[in-house]
Amino acid sequence: MRLILLNPTIIDGKSTEPIEGFSIIIENNRISKLSKSPTQTEIKGAKVIDLHGFFAIPGLFDTHTHLVSPLSDVFHANETTVARYIRAGKECMDGLSVGITSVRAVGTHNYLDLAWKRSFANNMFSGPRIFASGYALTTTAGHAVEKEITYASDGGPGFRKIIREQLKEGVDHLKLLMSGGCFGDRWDSPTDTHFLTDEIESVFGIAQQRGYKVAVHAGSPESTKIAVKAGAHSIEHGYSLDEESVALMVSNNTYYVPTLLITHMTNEAALTPYHKNYITQWPLPNNLLERANANRAAHSSAFKMALEAGVKIAAGSDAGPLKDASILEIELLVQNGMSPMNAIKAATLTSAAVCEADEELGSIEEGKCADLVILRKNPVEAIGNIRSVYQVYKNGKLAIDESQ
Ligand SMILES: [Zn+2]
Ligand SMILES: [Zn+2]
Repeated sequence: MRLILLNPTIIDGKSTEPIEGFSIIIENNRISKLSKSPTQTEIKGAKVIDLHGFFAIPGLFDTHTHLVSPLSDVFHANETTVARYIRAGKECMDGLSVGITSVRAVGTHNYLDLAWKRSFANNMFSGPRIFASGYALTTTAGHAVEKEITYASDGGPGFRKIIREQLKEGVDHLKLLMSGGCFGDRWDSPTDTHFLTDEIESVFGIAQQRGYKVAVHAGSPESTKIAVKAGAHSIEHGYSLDEESVALMVSNNTYYVPTLLITHMTNEAALTPYHKNYITQWPLPNNLLERANANRAAHSSAFKMALEAGVKIAAGSDAGPLKDASILEIELLVQNGMSPMNAIKAATLTSAAVCEADEELGSIEEGKCADLVILRKNPVEAIGNIRSVYQVYKNGKLAIDESQ
């Protein structure tokens, strides 16, 4: 069936200004035409939805998720594994309701991301597209080694075997934990680099040979430089960066997914009612709160340095639940200095490129898959308006209807 979305203001994910005076014609799940005035032939037999006064943006992405919060052992301490698997699916489905039509998983237990990806792709349930990583790769005494979302090995041969197993399961990309993390133990701090040269060469050697991209968790300038030189597709977090690491990211076209929410999960950083409410609902324990506060200034200035240098920045929350965390992260990009228009690009076209899906997704253009979010209010005027969801279309079909 042909669907005509009549005359919304279009924020296409590419242009510098909103576009007025066009209607979006959708056929066979794709945007077949952006039309100044649909012809009688086009209108005949089509379903026409009047969107004058509304705003159309591309479907949103969250490019750094573990489907459930990576702090699930804190926030859901007594949850069974099966209960967590079910919650992961529910939170993905809820994400669709706020306009998240695609997510990139970067470390999940037992190929949970692949299972949900397939159940959404074959319409068993209605949820976002998932780009799957399987487990995140770490070392003995490496980052997050005690969490169920990681798979530890040591030495080149160990990593070759793990990666080949992951490829056989059907992952879309790989995730490597190069350094420690903001919330880690003493032996797991962002300034520690955990991988040795033979291990790095094994990971990237196979990735290049088989045509897979590697997302790299890197907390420091040093681990970022090692990752970029090895061929990382994206740097995750970058809790601190220096001029050299930022320049390397620019010259190597490396994407940056800052995951600002990690160091902004505190009252001091919460400037909006939504954010304050989120902190009240998911309060960090004191030891983690101290880490978030201690790392925030450096994280924020790393982000600003990358933004100014022209690093390609994508939106990814690294928190949960998806429906709250992903939108908060988009707002935090703006709170830390990005324009609302560029924050929308970060969460759409740039994120689609991070998922290697920018030929199909991420912008409102003729020929692309019709993943769209219709908003009641203009998100370019105030990024918080991204919450004013009216409808969500996934693959050309109305997936969420808040019009009543
Ligand atoms: Zn990480
Ligand atoms: Zn993460």
